Amino acid sequence: MSEEKSNLIKGNTGDWEVVIGLEIHAQVSSNSKLFSGAATQFGAEPNSQVSLVDAAMPGMLPVINQYCVEQAVKTGLGLGAKINRVSVFDRKNYFYPDLPQGYQISQFKQPIVGEGEVIVDLADGTSVIVGIERLHLEQDAGKSIHDLHPKQSLVDLNRSGIALMEIVSRPDLRSSEQAGAYMRKVRTIVRYLGTCDGNMEQGSMRADVNVSVRKPGDELGTRCEMKNINSIRFIQQSIEYEARRQIEVIENGGVIEQQTRLFDSKNGETRPMRSKEEAHDYRYFPDPDLLPLALDEAWIDDLKAKLPELPDDKKARYISDFGLSPYDASVLVSERERADFFEAVASGRDAKLSANWVTGSLFAALKKEGVSIHDSKVSASDLGELIDLISDQTISGRIAKDVFELMFESGRPPREIVEEQGLTQVTDTGAIESEIDKIIAANPDKVEQVKEKPRMMGWFVGQVMQATGGKANPQVVNEILQKKLGH
Ligand code: ADP
Ligand code: MG
Repeated sequence: MSEEKSNLIKGNTGDWEVVIGLEIHAQVSSNSKLFSGAATQFGAEPNSQVSLVDAAMPGMLPVINQYCVEQAVKTGLGLGAKINRVSVFDRKNYFYPDLPQGYQISQFKQPIVGEGEVIVDLADGTSVIVGIERLHLEQDAGKSIHDLHPKQSLVDLNRSGIALMEIVSRPDLRSSEQAGAYMRKVRTIVRYLGTCDGNMEQGSMRADVNVSVRKPGDELGTRCEMKNINSIRFIQQSIEYEARRQIEVIENGGVIEQQTRLFDSKNGETRPMRSKEEAHDYRYFPDPDLLPLALDEAWIDDLKAKLPELPDDKKARYISDFGLSPYDASVLVSERERADFFEAVASGRDAKLSANWVTGSLFAALKKEGVSIHDSKVSASDLGELIDLISDQTISGRIAKDVFELMFESGRPPREIVEEQGLTQVTDTGAIESEIDKIIAANPDKVEQVKEKPRMMGWFVGQVMQATGGKANPQVVNEILQKKLGH
């Protein structure tokens, strides 16, 4: 690991350290809800996916959805966390118009998943380990809609009862950049596992962001919590604003009050919502309608055995088996689709060369066009074929760049483009030699110079390439030039 860069913030009274902990709400990928059979499809007609249980009709009983439990356990395993054999569902009591039960079923004292750990790679090549305190299962509430009717608020219960996993981190993050990288890493892990789609713009993942500041070495400061932030950029902005605000308050002689605050993305500020005194007393108690959840060890082991290869393991394999740099390996494993694409290209080929093409030309082109790898017009097999054409010397590396551009625009296979445009590399020694002879004859002054300055050879190479439209095999060109002009 290289030397860690400082995350300290300069204030008037010296350096300050920011301390951040995230509570991530991740919607479980499941076709039905946590305690009912109602559907969970995003964007459905309001109140079209609501069972009697979700609407909290009198006498309705919740029935646990085993698939959601399985998803939570898989996520716990993916976070390197302890799976609790027994967990308990509690009622968290509060009133809200979009919460018809008058309580949310959650897990309080005995969550399904205990302590774990996530390795977070940072842009400068260092990494931090973030502790996971717990993961618990809970129901989502409905949604109040305030802007569809001039005088009334409307309630959509489609979300009511959807399974959420709340993933609580330890206060181990020290900068907005680290918090963003942690969020991305958790998203990568749940996407690999298929336990949450990670689509933040659809609300599938959101975070409560806890921030405090302290002088390095001091005890933890009092935190403020920004609720329900649904983009990584906003998470980072809220941390930066909030840390500066807290430093200013303390440096001006004030104290930080523990508060829940709202992040206003329009002007990038946080505003108080409620203070500790106004905090809810949820009166948690075990839900009498649900038995404790007891998991079978063999069932957990079976899920563990069936986990897919996770990003950290994949990265380690790319470094050890393929000789990739840690950076390239990180970039490739950051999305499962990227990794699958790379492996399809690299299969039976030089892995480093394949990684260069995927992370270099392909990713640059996709980024420029704002296209995901899923929608890439260049398929893995076509990119592989392009690499083959370079390896068997059909085309030069330089020409390959042009061919790639055309592939990316048209989606056509490389061989077709090379043939149609006559780009095949000239390896015919006679043809190259006759070009070289012409250049030597036309430039007696340069021939004199190259005797003194061997570096001038590059000029001749350039001339040959120009004369052959870049198609001359550079190795053959060099050999003949050395023979004719070298010492
Ligand atoms: P609550 O459920 O009331 O929000 P928790 O104890 O579960 O409280 O903590 C919530 C989150 O706050 C955790 O992610 C934790 O890491 C973070 N946290 C706790 N103390 C601090 C602190 N002093 N500064 C920043 N974050 C903190
Ligand atoms: Mg909280």
